[in-house]
Amino acid sequence: MQQEIVFSKYYGQGNTEGLDYYKKNDQGYTALPRSLEMGAEKVLAEVKESGLRGRGGAGFPCGTKWGFIPKNSEKPKYLVINADESEPGTFKDRAIMAYQPHLMIEGAIIAAMTINAHMIYVYIRGEYVKEAGILDRAIEEAYKAGYLGNNVAGTGYKLDMVVHRGAGAYICGEETALLNSLEGKRGEPRIKPPFFPAAIGLFGCPTVVNNVETLACVPMIVNRGAAWFKQFGPEKNYGMKLFCISGHVNRPGLYERPLGYPMMKLINEDCGGIWKGRKLKAAFPGGSSAPVLTAEQCEVNLDFDSLAKAGSMLGSAGIMVIDDATCMLKVAIRTAHFYQVESCGQCTPCREGTMWLKDLHVRLERGDGKVGDLDLIEDICNNMDGTTICAFGEATAWPLRSMVKKFRTEYEQHVTEKRCPFGTAAH
Ligand code: SF4
Repeated sequence: MQQEIVFSKYYGQGNTEGLDYYKKNDQGYTALPRSLEMGAEKVLAEVKESGLRGRGGAGFPCGTKWGFIPKNSEKPKYLVINADESEPGTFKDRAIMAYQPHLMIEGAIIAAMTINAHMIYVYIRGEYVKEAGILDRAIEEAYKAGYLGNNVAGTGYKLDMVVHRGAGAYICGEETALLNSLEGKRGEPRIKPPFFPAAIGLFGCPTVVNNVETLACVPMIVNRGAAWFKQFGPEKNYGMKLFCISGHVNRPGLYERPLGYPMMKLINEDCGGIWKGRKLKAAFPGGSSAPVLTAEQCEVNLDFDSLAKAGSMLGSAGIMVIDDATCMLKVAIRTAHFYQVESCGQCTPCREGTMWLKDLHVRLERGDGKVGDLDLIEDICNNMDGTTICAFGEATAWPLRSMVKKFRTEYEQHVTEKRCPFGTAAH
């Protein structure tokens, strides 16, 4: 399998975030002049040709998204970077911002000039205090070097970039909630349509919202070409990818592998297998919003299409591994509680459903549940799926419904034995 470490070669080393380091070690700011020579049309065509899919969760083609921005609109256009990385088990954008901030900044400058935006906002998760400081310093360096400001790279193009820190709400990772928050409103998702902010986005103007890792791919695509990018990964799932592995493996962490990499190879070989000599029970391949995979289903390749075929999703590539000493109801309680707390409360199925789901799981886990509760969980999930303003409803329903379906015997055991069969000493 073709691979080349392009992101993580410096991770864990000190002092890699400066402009000098980026220029010396990563062909820093050579893609920007190349993109200026190519012109916006050719850059857009190259990004489209590369097949780059968004790394934030949905996997939408990046070039297509840029192409939605209306060329003849007189309104200002914006590029917004979604750095609100809040999906449980996900910590890849954090690494890019901490170790290679200029890679993202250069990608953002190229993207902004391609869509004719003069303002870039980085909406960063509030808890990423250190990374926000690193970004601020990197942006200042980019201004001083003439890559941002009133005369970008001597072209006369005006481009500004600011970092906006969120206040720690998971829902602000949803792009329309993020835009509301950026406008100073409550961070609540907007009613769709419009489905894309390309027409009506930030301040009612055409806007592209891109993830950090997506933009970090752009300088490489401009410098090395779409054909180089397409060497990695299977058809329609191209590029190197950062995978975050947490949970019950011997070596959790951040692994850079091509899309399409076998999940069991990652777990058993790269991560040293399941800890404490236990067995694999289940895994969430794309953060806690992804439907769970049983151990057998983990024989799958890590890319958008293979995981969709397996009934789950790549999402944010936050892989959470569960061993066989773990009670799935406890996992479900933690998941339901997270979504209960993070629901913005606009939609009744989400606001009430997340609370009922948490309460039902708690009742079952302590041995007070009824067999009918299992169907009730599925029923509540079915009523949340597709009936809410944003995908948060599905993000709650999918993992919880998949857990009760795939581990039904274990759930029933809690009812018949009137206790948790795993006791309290799972770990
Ligand atoms: Fe808010 Fe939940 Fe409705 Fe999304 S689905 S808008 S998080 S209440």
